[in-house]
Amino acid sequence: MSVGYVYDPVYLQHDTGYHSENANRLTSILSYLEKTGLLAELKIIKPRAASIDEIAAVHDREYISYLAYVAKNGGAWLEVDTVMSPKSYDAAVYAAGGTISATDEVMQGKVSSAFALVRPPGHHATYDRAMGFCMFNNIAIAAKYALSKYKLERIAIIDFDVHHGNGTQDAFNSDPHVLYVSTHQYPHYPGSGNAEDTGTPEGRGTILNVPMPAASGDHEYHTVFEKIIVPVAKRYKPQLIMVSAGYDIHWSDELAQMQVTTTGIADIVRFIKQLADEFCQGKIVIALEGGYNLEALSTSVKATFDVLMNKKEIEDIMGTPKRRVSNPDIAPLVKQLKAIHHLS
Ligand SMILES: [Zn+2]
Repeated sequence: MSVGYVYDPVYLQHDTGYHSENANRLTSILSYLEKTGLLAELKIIKPRAASIDEIAAVHDREYISYLAYVAKNGGAWLEVDTVMSPKSYDAAVYAAGGTISATDEVMQGKVSSAFALVRPPGHHATYDRAMGFCMFNNIAIAAKYALSKYKLERIAIIDFDVHHGNGTQDAFNSDPHVLYVSTHQYPHYPGSGNAEDTGTPEGRGTILNVPMPAASGDHEYHTVFEKIIVPVAKRYKPQLIMVSAGYDIHWSDELAQMQVTTTGIADIVRFIKQLADEFCQGKIVIALEGGYNLEALSTSVKATFDVLMNKKEIEDIMGTPKRRVSNPDIAPLVKQLKAIHHLS
């Protein structure tokens, strides 16, 4: 079965000027996928607009109307990191809707897995606040939609963006129907996501925060997936895996200090794919979050598709970090997380 991608020029109309999160991110990905011939092997999925009710499953209705009002009045900075242009509201509604479209295609068996190449990104957006380049929480909105529309009991959201997905955790903090897993640089923006934070008692511990020290690389990510994330996910037995894919973990990314290579990103996606193959008939819905070095972003998104399509060869034209620093010892973190999450 084919792998799908969501894309539409509406996402380019969210005009952020010289901001790191700009339209060149998507055009670079698309042109690289085209140049390498991969795009022709994928099924394009047209996004639809998310309805106000669908967005309101995660966000305050007044906040939704406020964003529509700001866009209609020419746009503005919503907070220090997040700017709206006149078309940003439409892009945001289609970013949430595009992630829903990807979910429908996957759940209805029209594609095996799908990647929503959307912007603005979503995982920092909270109930009533834009944050960290995000307006609507695309992955959370699509997960709420999937729980209700397809009567799912257990969805795992795996967020490997370098920043903690505070908005996504907020949305599912008290919800045992979603296992939210986040690997992120810690301490770092937005400050949340410590190891002891496993959600509220009503959520029954279905928040797994993996706060990684700066300079973590392929080996450290492999270790936490192998020893912590995979065992927790296997115990949870998800029916669908959703992914917040942030390529700002790449060593070349200037917004954080990790040392992951494109090969290491492919390794992470392989862990996720094996879980999906074992528990979810391969069903994976991915939404684009961060990633600001355009070459690393494009080549790593391609590597993600290569893994989804079971290709053996992963091309890593950027190689290893130019200025390598010594990798941190994550044995204490692994030990701590095993204790917190009751792993043997
Ligand atoms: Zn990020």
